[in-house]
Amino acid sequence: MTASGTALYLDGVSVTFDGFKAINELSLVLRPGEMRAIIGPNGAGKTTMMDIITGKTRPDRGQVIFDGEVDLTRLDETDIARLGIGRKFQKPTVFETHSVEDNILLALAGKRGVFATLGARLSGDEARRVDRILRLIRLDGRRKEIAGALSHGQKQWLEIGMLLAQNPKVLLVDEPAAGMTDAETMETADLLKEIAGEHTVVVVEHDMEFVRALGVKVTVLHEGSVLAEGSIDHVSADQRVIDVYLGR
Ligand code: ADP
Repeated sequence: MTASGTALYLDGVSVTFDGFKAINELSLVLRPGEMRAIIGPNGAGKTTMMDIITGKTRPDRGQVIFDGEVDLTRLDETDIARLGIGRKFQKPTVFETHSVEDNILLALAGKRGVFATLGARLSGDEARRVDRILRLIRLDGRRKEIAGALSHGQKQWLEIGMLLAQNPKVLLVDEPAAGMTDAETMETADLLKEIAGEHTVVVVEHDMEFVRALGVKVTVLHEGSVLAEGSIDHVSADQRVIDVYLGR
């Protein structure tokens, strides 16, 4: 298999911290528009894998290729973000004192600058994009409200919207449903399904019901390597997966 035609291609990736192999010969391939769920017990290497993709951690060896040809191991975090790899951390970070709509506008602004953006007239295209994002993140009806007044789940959606405003090719999302109500969790699964296709999405998640609702291929990490891959039903019936979750 080669990187050609893939959105994200990791092959033989390893990283060692003080003699400890956190990532060990990891291979992961995502095609453009694919959504993949990554699961695995604590310490499996999920965060380190995301750190490697986003350039926060440099691997000791192996290939990390974006968009079929760009070698990410040679680039720093800022360059990788600019290429179109967005990351959402667990805790939502939004501008609490600004409106929902302004949060999206600020994210859309990028290099144009914050003060030039707020209050500026949007082009028709930009206005349509903001509308589309607000509908997608289920906050169209609350666009004028202050972000600080949103529920935890709604803040998570708003941050996803802010990432979408930057139009990333690949979106890495860390436990998007953590701390959400059951209804918000299922709504988040639908939201991510709507995003996939247009964007390649990697979701790190602990909540198995949520992973089941996503209905996508699952990669199980253990000790920095892929232990199993397939549908949630397939991997959850795998004895090796059961053993690592039970700590055997
Ligand atoms: P997960 O996100 O799946 O819980 P991590 O990627 O956070 O796993 O961690 C994988 C392993 O690497 C863990 O054993 C962790 O203690 C270790 N590790 C992660 N980052 C560092 C670091 N900067 N220095 C030393 N060890 C680390």
